[in-house]
Amino acid sequence: MFFLAGMDKKYEPIEPPISCHCSFCGVNREWVLYKETELASLFFITIWRFTPDYLLVCGSCQYPMKLPRELGKQLALDSSQITAKQDELASLVAEHQKVNITTNRES
Ligand SMILES: [Zn+2]
Repeated sequence: MFFLAGMDKKYEPIEPPISCHCSFCGVNREWVLYKETELASLFFITIWRFTPDYLLVCGSCQYPMKLPRELGKQLALDSSQITAKQDELASLVAEHQKVNITTNRES
């Protein structure tokens, strides 16, 4: 029996981008929200889509931050929320980078 199975990841940008400071590359940049969907295929036909993840990605260094799934879903469904929640998202990024970048430097 011969099966041609595969896994693939699909990224869909969700507009509009937000402006946010990146501690990793040290500049203010546009960050874009991406919906990441993992797909399983059989003979090049998608047979399964996994629950998507939502990532905010720095437009300069591509630093990715995974958002809580519920929040990401909300933003993807109603993209006007992205602008409305800009400050909240910016502080999430700041918190996330503070923890992760410090940890990386220490190790
Ligand atoms: Zn960056």
